[in-house]
Amino acid sequence: MLKLHNTLTSADEDFYPLEDGVVRFYTCGPTVYDYAHIGNFRTFVFQDLLRRYLEYRNYRVIHVMNITDVDDKTIHNAREQGMTLRDYTTKYTEVFLADCKTLRIQIPGLLPRATDHIPEMVALIQKLEEKGYTYRKDGSIYFSIAHFPGYGRLSKADFSGAQAGASVDTDKYDKENARDFVLWKAKKEGEDFWETEIGPGRPGWHIECSAMSMKYLGETFDIHCGGVDLVFPHHENEIAQSECATGKPFVRYWVHPEFLIVESQKMSKSLGNFFRLQDLADLGHSPEAIRYLLLSVHYRKQLNFTMDGLRQAQSSIQRLEDFMLRAKEIANADEPSPAFTHEVQAARVKFIEAMDADLNTSAALAVIFDFVRLAYQKESQKALSGGDARIAIDFLKEIDGIYNILRAQSEILDEEIAQQIEARQAARRRRDFAEADRIRQSLLAKGIQLEDTKEGIRWKRLS
Ligand SMILES: [Zn+2]
Repeated sequence: MLKLHNTLTSADEDFYPLEDGVVRFYTCGPTVYDYAHIGNFRTFVFQDLLRRYLEYRNYRVIHVMNITDVDDKTIHNAREQGMTLRDYTTKYTEVFLADCKTLRIQIPGLLPRATDHIPEMVALIQKLEEKGYTYRKDGSIYFSIAHFPGYGRLSKADFSGAQAGASVDTDKYDKENARDFVLWKAKKEGEDFWETEIGPGRPGWHIECSAMSMKYLGETFDIHCGGVDLVFPHHENEIAQSECATGKPFVRYWVHPEFLIVESQKMSKSLGNFFRLQDLADLGHSPEAIRYLLLSVHYRKQLNFTMDGLRQAQSSIQRLEDFMLRAKEIANADEPSPAFTHEVQAARVKFIEAMDADLNTSAALAVIFDFVRLAYQKESQKALSGGDARIAIDFLKEIDGIYNILRAQSEILDEEIAQQIEARQAARRRRDFAEADRIRQSLLAKGIQLEDTKEGIRWKRLS
């Protein structure tokens, strides 16, 4: 059974959804004011892994991720660029989704934008007003944390001494500055605002996630995920607003991936270790290696993201791809041997055990590499039959449905092909025709056909 670490209870809990076979899953999405950085993507890649693993375990996952397209930063940047808020945030939403695609992140089925859900937020705030959890000050509406005894349960902090009536207007602040937080911000000169039944203004950040998650997933849903920096105040406030409005538990499992550091230091622009996806691509790192590195460490441990780690990730992927290609050369439709069938099943069981243990990815990857080592060993002893090779390939493809780090055959770089052709030419020059033929056959197995012409060697991809 899958166990997930629940921040709310600080325990690894058996996971079972409210509705049999269906998981309702909400993840806090990006604030689209700029490019996302690699630290953000650790969270998004992890969420993708969690979703894929739930699907692997035969759950249907209803995944909602919000797009925060109204806040201080988006408004400020849009004005600076002379763009409307909508145009500005659409641009960065598209950039974000393109980055996700590059990192092979499945785009959630529902991507609600905050500014498309103002009426839902207003209705939620009205409900809280009716129930007496709020007060007004200068046109803004605040949530009174003293009225919710559960406040602090998620972040494990005691706010009982917080001064009643002291409030904050900013959306981000630390526990030491915990105050009544803003639900609705009064209209301000030079800022975007909406005319609504609760007055002119714009929503605070926290109300957005409560309104949109409950709209699409119900008043109580299964998993809420976000970076560990969102535990306080964002998720603490989401719980307060939602549970006070509905009188029901809001979320059953709170899951929070840790930060990453870069080259052992906190990522910051001033240290020059601040990376967007494009920066890493410019340095020649593949998206697969980035995804692999981000997933290689258990999500609740801090990850030290290094260029060396990226190179190691690339060579780990290469090892898997090399094995896949070698296995494809010998694979056929024959029955696999009982002994190897047993090995595959044993590896599958161990893999699932590791993933079920709160998605222990480092242990799960170790299982895969042990399996590949064993299969390679058999292959070198000519003890891997065509049928064995076939089920080994199927097993690795099955795992890759979750990790998604292997390139399709068609993506094998032209460069690698060129290297192989060069190696074949060298073999021919030293009259090692057996080796030359082996390379030709190996390329053929990858769908590459060589043609010897008067002008030299040509190759083409067989479709
Ligand atoms: Zn959120």
